[in-house]
Amino acid sequence: MPLPLGHAAIGLTAYDLCSGNDCGFSRWKLAFFIVLLANLPDIDVLIGLLFQGNGNAFHRGPTHSVIFALAMGFLASNAWKFWSQIPKIGFRNCFWVIISHVMADFFFGGSQVSFFWPFEVHWANGYRGWGDVLNSVFMKAVQDAPIVMACAVLIALNRQMRKYIPKKYTLEPRQ
Ligand SMILES: [Zn+2]
Repeated sequence: MPLPLGHAAIGLTAYDLCSGNDCGFSRWKLAFFIVLLANLPDIDVLIGLLFQGNGNAFHRGPTHSVIFALAMGFLASNAWKFWSQIPKIGFRNCFWVIISHVMADFFFGGSQVSFFWPFEVHWANGYRGWGDVLNSVFMKAVQDAPIVMACAVLIALNRQMRKYIPKKYTLEPRQ
């Protein structure tokens, strides 16, 4: 299953493909915010750890749904109004970055997500303590190398295409 590193790569790719904008190292605040949004659905692991001592207690429930992506996309796209350090990203792009996480879990994660919560809910099984979670974040990140490489290729291809395809056929850059 994609780990935080893989989700970060997928989120950055989703932003690059959907927005028509680059988010390179020169725009590190934008990249950081996108990485945060791309991992936001897994906040349920933290909630599970804090309240039940089990990272799987609430995992892949409501935060892995379309409704969550819509609601958080709305909040994230308006957050710059409250703190000027937060980059201005449009609602549509925030939504795509967040839902890219849920889709990646669905396609590569090997177990169900709760796309249509509250009409369906699928919790992750089993027990994951702090040690298991930290281990998967830091020690197993290398597993995501194929995802990171595939994303890098996609971004590079997309940027090349943007150069050669006449402007009228490409997406207008959006925030
Ligand atoms: Zn997830």
